[in-house]
Amino acid sequence: MTDELAQHRKAELVQRLRQAGLRVTQPRLWVLDVLDRVSGHWSADEVLAAVRARGARLSRATVYNVIHALVSSGLVMVADAGPGRMLLESARVWHHHFVCRDCGTVIDVPCVIGAKPCLQPALPGAEVDEAQVIWRGRCPRCVARSASRGGEHARQTSSRTSASASDRSIGAWTGG
Ligand SMILES: [Zn+2]
Ligand SMILES: [Zn+2]
Repeated sequence: MTDELAQHRKAELVQRLRQAGLRVTQPRLWVLDVLDRVSGHWSADEVLAAVRARGARLSRATVYNVIHALVSSGLVMVADAGPGRMLLESARVWHHHFVCRDCGTVIDVPCVIGAKPCLQPALPGAEVDEAQVIWRGRCPRCVARSASRGGEHARQTSSRTSASASDRSIGAWTGG
C-alpha cells in the first residue's frame, strides 16, 4: 500500500477489530479503512476497486472473505436496498433506507430505536434478530426535477408540496 495508514488511525482500526473479536490482518485493516472513509453505500466490487486504487494488491476472493468477516462481526453493515444489490457501509448506528425508483439513489433513514431488531412481527415464538425497512418512491431530487419540467407554475407549486410531504414521512418515522 503506497499511503501507509497513519499510526493513530491504524491503532483505532486495530482496536475495533479486536473489540469485534477479529484477528487483525492487513487486508481487514484496508477494507475497514476504505469503508470508513467513504460515505454512502458500496457494492463489494466497488470496495475491491477502492482498496486496489489505494495500492493494495488483494485478490477478489480475499476482499470478499474480509467483507464477510466484517459483516459477521457487525463492523460493516449490509444495506438492504432490494434484489441484486448487496450494499455495504461502515456500521455506525443502525438505520434504514429509502430507495428511489427513478435514479436508484439509496438514502439513509434514521431508526427510532437505533439498534436491531427495532420492529417485532406478529409471529409468536419466532426469534427475530433484525428488521430492516426499505422505503420506495422518488427521491427529493427526482421529484424536484420532474416538477421543473412541468413549467413555471408546476415548479412553484408541486416541488414545494412534494418536498414537505417527504419531510413529513421521514419525520414520522424518526419521531423527531
Ligand atoms: Zn431519484
Ligand atoms: Zn445506510
